[in-house]
Amino acid sequence: MGGMSWESSVHYYRLINEGVRDRLGGVASARTLMWSFDFARIEALQHAGDWDALAGEMADAARVLEKGGADFLVLCTNTMHRCAWAIDAAVKTPLLHIADPTAAAIQAAGISRVGLLGTAFTMEQDFYRGRLEDKFGLEVLVPDADDRAAVHGIIYRELVAGQVLDASRETYRAVIRRLVERGAQGIILGCTEIMLLIGQADSPVPVFDTTTLHAMAAVDRALGDV
Ligand code: GLU
Repeated sequence: MGGMSWESSVHYYRLINEGVRDRLGGVASARTLMWSFDFARIEALQHAGDWDALAGEMADAARVLEKGGADFLVLCTNTMHRCAWAIDAAVKTPLLHIADPTAAAIQAAGISRVGLLGTAFTMEQDFYRGRLEDKFGLEVLVPDADDRAAVHGIIYRELVAGQVLDASRETYRAVIRRLVERGAQGIILGCTEIMLLIGQADSPVPVFDTTTLHAMAAVDRALGDV
């Protein structure tokens, strides 16, 4: 389930196909179905706070993919996992939740206190942090209010529109530094477009890129490893 935004979905598509090719060799590639949303509509509903309508949209897309024969579902955005419950209720096809491979990688790195970057919805509401805290026992730090607004604004004004600006990279680096000063041992790139802007070189502590971790988990799942 992509298009949220397509700027990150295109990376999922590449990572999943490269992962399958690396594992199976030759010209093997992943059999996939993609439902790609018009992000203008999604973004408008998010900022209007109409999560009921968004839940309906996610459920409808999941039904289409289930009818198409999907074995499992990958929702290519952290934010829209707020509506994971609606997908679970609408279809029998399991959802590979983006927070789970992310948390597993953090635990494997021996980290217990982690900083979270994402949309305001992801940083401020409970659906994402709560899962990391309750299911995986992680301590989650979020930036202060000004930094959250900056991180959110850069996602919605620039990254989902395909704009990658040096000044915004500097802003993110400063936000990360402040999280590390507060004790973050790692940083979650908890929005699937953040990997367009920053990577490990921009952080003094390990970064956990949800796009790559989620895509690789999808490859593992598809190839029957988990
Ligand atoms: N792709 C982003 C995320 O991972 C934000 C866009 C959206 O709201 O879906 O949260």
